[in-house]
Parts: sequence; C-alpha cells; structure tokens
Amino acid sequence: MKKFDVVVIGAGPAGYVAAIRCAQLGLSTAVADKWIGKDGKPAPGGTCLNVGCIPSKALLESSEQFYQAAHKFESHGIRFKGIDVDVPAMIQRKDKVVQTLTSGVQYLLKKNGIAWLPGEAKLLSPQSIEVAPHGGGQPDAIEARYIIIATGSSPRELPNVPLDGAQIVDSTGALEFKSVPGNLVIIGAGVIGLELGSVWKRLGSKVVLLEAMDSFLPMVDDQIAQAAQKEFEHQGLDIRLGARVLSGKAGRKKVAVTYEDSKGAHEIECDNLVVAVGRKPNTERLNAEGVGLLLDERGFIHVDDYCRTNLPNVFAIGDVVRGPMLAHKGSEEGVMVAERLAGEQTRINYDVIPWVIYTAPEIAWVGKTERQLKQAARPYKTGVFPLSASGRAKAMAETAGLVKVISDAANDRILGVHMFAPSASELIMEAVVAMEFAASTEDIQRIVHAHPSISEAFHEAALAVDGRSLHI
Ligand code: FAD
Ligand code: AMP
Repeated sequence: MKKFDVVVIGAGPAGYVAAIRCAQLGLSTAVADKWIGKDGKPAPGGTCLNVGCIPSKALLESSEQFYQAAHKFESHGIRFKGIDVDVPAMIQRKDKVVQTLTSGVQYLLKKNGIAWLPGEAKLLSPQSIEVAPHGGGQPDAIEARYIIIATGSSPRELPNVPLDGAQIVDSTGALEFKSVPGNLVIIGAGVIGLELGSVWKRLGSKVVLLEAMDSFLPMVDDQIAQAAQKEFEHQGLDIRLGARVLSGKAGRKKVAVTYEDSKGAHEIECDNLVVAVGRKPNTERLNAEGVGLLLDERGFIHVDDYCRTNLPNVFAIGDVVRGPMLAHKGSEEGVMVAERLAGEQTRINYDVIPWVIYTAPEIAWVGKTERQLKQAARPYKTGVFPLSASGRAKAMAETAGLVKVISDAANDRILGVHMFAPSASELIMEAVVAMEFAASTEDIQRIVHAHPSISEAFHEAALAVDGRSLHI
C-alpha cells in the first residue's frame, strides 16, 4: 500500500491548492481526481477550471467584446460594416484557455512533487482511501496520516426537467452551444443563470429568466439588486420573478416549459432550456456512511470553523462544506488546513470574503448588507455614490451603477461595501483590504485616490457616509 502524509480527494481550486500548500510545508502529498477533460484526458482544476469560473469568464469576455463592437463602438465614433459571431471559434478559444490552465495545474502538482492519482476515490477508513483508475483496472489503496476531502459540487437538477445534453442542458451544456439559440429560457436567476444569460443575450438570443423567488438576488444589498435588475432589463433580459418552473420537455424542435406564478400557470416555448437552480455537494459516492463521516441534512460534509470533520485526521474544504460556493473560499480553506496540519494556527476570516457576479456592470460585495444589519438591530450609516457622477465612468460611457459603503454608527468601522460598477471584481479588493484591516470610512476618506478612476466612486461613497461628498 502506498503511504503519504496527506491524500487529497479532488483537484479543484480547494483540493489542488491544499495539496500544493501541504507539499510546500514538507508533507508528502497525493491528490486523486476523477475529472476527464473534453480531450478525453484527466484534467485537474475541478469545476472552476473545466466548466465554471474560467470558461464562463472566457465566454463573458468574448460576448462582451462582440456586444461592444456591435452596439457601443458607434457612440465612440467608430463605425464599420459587417460584424459576425463565429460561435465555434469562440468556444474553441474558451477550450484553449481551459486546457492551458488545467495543464498548468498538472505542471504545478508535478513541480511540487505531488503524486497525481487520476480516478475516482472513496474512503476505506479515516486513514485510507481507494482510487479506481479510469477505464477499470485494479483500484489503488492509499494510506495517509491525514485525508482532505475536496470533492466539490455538481449542478442540481429539477425532477420534471430531464436534461438531454442538447436542447435541455445544465450550466456545463450552456458553455457548449454550437450556435446562438434564438430563444433561450434559463431556470434560476442566480449568479450562474445571470452570467450565462448575459453571454447568450449579448450574442443575440432572446433570453427569459424564470426565478422562483419573489425578490431579485436576495443575497445582494437591496439597493444594488434593484439597480441591477433595472439595468439588466434595460439590456433586454426578460426576468420573471415568482415564477416556479413545473416542467420542461424537449419536443422535435422546441422545448416546452411550464411554470406558475401569482397569475396562474403558463407555458412558453424556446429553442434551448438551461437549468441553473444551484449546486449540490459531491458526497454520494464517497462511502461517507461506511466510515461514519457525518453529513448534514443537505448532504454537505459537517465541519467546524477549521474544516475538521467528525473523524479525527479527516478534513473537508470547498463546495462540499458549508459557506459560499466560491473558488477563492475553497482555496483559502485548503491553505488553512495544510498550515494547521503543519502545526500553524491559521484561521479564515469568513466575514470578509468577496462575492462577484460577472455581469456588465459587475456586481461585487463584501461584508454585511443593510438588511442583515437591520435584522441584527445594529445601528449603521450609509453612503452612496452613483457612477453617473463619475468623470471616468462618463469617459468610458459606462455610467450605470453605484457604490455603497455601510459603516458602524457607533465607531465608523466599515461593515459592508457593495458595488455595481465596471471592474467591480477588481475594485472590491480595496474594500476587502480595508475591512481586513478594520478600517473606518474616515480611513478611506483620507486615502488619496487616483483621478480619474472608478475607485474614486468608493472614495466618494465613503465621504457620503458623513454627508461630505465632493462631486454630487
Ligand atoms: P470543484 O471545483 O467542484 O472540484 C472538485 C473536484 O473533485 C472535481 O474535479 C471532481 O471531479 C473531483 N471529485 C469529486 N468526487 C471525486 C471522487 N470521489 N474521487 C476523485 N475526484 C472526485 N466561483 C468563483 O469563485 N468565481 C466564479 O466566477 C465562478 N464562476 C462559476 C461559473 C459556473 C458556470 C459554475 C458552475 C461555477 C462557478 N463558480 C465560481 C463556483 C466554483 O466553480 C466553485 O466554487 C469551485 O469550483 C469549488 O471548488 P472545489 O475545489 O470545492 O470543487
Ligand atoms: P444560485 O443558487 O445562485 O445558482 O441560484 C439558483 C436559483 O434558482 C435560485 O435563485 C432559486 O430560487 C432558483 N430556482 C430553484 N428552483 C427553481 C424552479 N423550480 N423554478 C425557478 N427557479 C428556481
């Protein structure tokens, strides 16, 4: 039996980062992963690199470039004739980006001396696993002092909406359309539904988003969610709230979708249907019950703040445990567990994790929303700055959006920052750093911000907390 200090199950952003950090700290490490890439070869990187963060951002970028050229260039005085989308070329570019990054991870594993075990793993005991290689063959038994489970998550399905991989697909299939669907219906107006809807809308599809909940993006600050809904509807996304999908059926050419809302039952037709109703943890095939690993009622592995499971020496990180399903959250959990195995006292500040929705403009936030603070009866102050008053936003012709700062009424400490702005995914990091260092809005007010830049909107929103905005 092969023996290691640590064996990691799953090489997504949680697992492969955990493995690299373990190896850096001198622990002999192996990582097992079952993903097979589009080329039929094992591909580390998990959901994020293969069918998640990276390919979706590649297509968001391509579609945004097309949209800018087709609809926005003219306002800059740039005119040209004949513009076309080559979907297979776009998909091919996306695949190339994915392939470069997954082979990059393979290289990193090798470079760090990590044993790579392609195949499906299951737990044999709290200190051993078995890896069934692809294509059959004798499973490999591996013994380790510590096991880190990072098996991630998969798209959730709806009972009456059977996927057929062509007309009715999940988020993975929506990254693979061969042409632009004429009519596209997306079930779920969450993060993934909005990003995929944006891609195909920009390329020319008519997009309807059916969302069961009555409120739009309930986890986002209300003011930002309202502004975003208005802007996305202005961009042409047909967002129907309170619309619970009952069934989706592929016919010879069209898909029939039935849903009900407060007005009754409805049926609509579309060319393609995307199911984007959330994700479920990959714990079904781990033999959790066999070894006594505790799961919660939704199938997530039960862990404490340090990602320790109920079994000594077994840890779990990333999408397969509680908390936001975000790649960077999983990676930092991987670093924390590796460092704690090496005797360090690392912990994660779960209160300061950035969230991003990669629409145009992007939505990004960190910390508390007004609603959460009201519920906690915690007195707070707010400051808002609209991008319509930003010189840089005007120069860019991107004036939709706003930045909002929320701080503690008692001591001015920043409690939350919410952005709906171009490049908000980058801008939010100033707020993340500020909150990590327990900054007050006065700290931000007194920091010199470059002019002209969108970051000035954060500065102005901080000034607005004390009613001293300069440019509005
Ligand atoms: P995963 O990435 O799911 O990796 C788990 C790995 O374990 C997989 O390779 C799987 O095959 C393997 N595995 C599972 N079971 C076994 C087993 N028994 N044996 C061996 N291997 C196994 N997050 C962001 O932060 N930013 C984004 O922009 C973003 N965009 C997204 C867009 C889409 C379309 C989707 C679907 C997701 C997106 N996410 C994004 C979420 C992000 O992909 C996940 O949060 C992240 O991948 C979780 O990492 P993980 O390592 O926990 O799991
Ligand atoms: P997320 O978890 O951010 O990916 O979002 C998934 C969204 O899908 C949530 O907002 C859910 O409310 C929504 N959803 C789940 N089931 C249905 C359904 N049957 N019909 C419409 N929307 C749904």
